[in-house]
Amino acid sequence: DDKKKELLSELLSDVITLMKSQAKLKNVDICMDLDEKQYIYCDRSQIKQVFINLIKNAIEAMKDGGKVFVVADTHKDFCQIDIIDEGPGIPENLIHKLKEPFFTTKKDGTGLGLMISNQIVEKHNGSLEIYRNKEKGSTFRVIIPLKREY
Ligand code: ADP
Ligand code: MG
Repeated sequence: DDKKKELLSELLSDVITLMKSQAKLKNVDICMDLDEKQYIYCDRSQIKQVFINLIKNAIEAMKDGGKVFVVADTHKDFCQIDIIDEGPGIPENLIHKLKEPFFTTKKDGTGLGLMISNQIVEKHNGSLEIYRNKEKGSTFRVIIPLKREY
């Protein structure tokens, strides 16, 4: 496969640069908080696609603008990247449906973004977790193991 050692901060900066104009149009600020030196072992373009999908959804969720937080934390065996928005959140009874192909609540949605993102993350032996935030909005958590061999 095409997995290589990649600097996470660089990869995420690329994605945020890509999403900036779309965010600005919707009055959304993207804030990043992470360890500049963290490396992950991944297929760069595929993992970028995951974050593009998640940040795009976060922007689309906030009709009146707001903030998207991209927060990465390193644990002993894995790296955790949270995409947090201030949108309406996900109704509890829909959470389990979001990764199904063609599930969408948008007028011109494809309902494929989360399914594809989930597949990519699983190909990295990781997982995509979805939470409804206490206060407001949702958190999409990408977990990627740090170990190269399994
Ligand atoms: P699409 O964006 O084309 O609808 P996705 O697979 O990316 O397809 O997302 C599926 C559905 O999950 C969305 O239509 C929406 O209902 C819900 N969803 C995804 N991200 C968020 C979010 N950040 N906040 C609220 N709902 C979301
Ligand atoms: Mg989407």
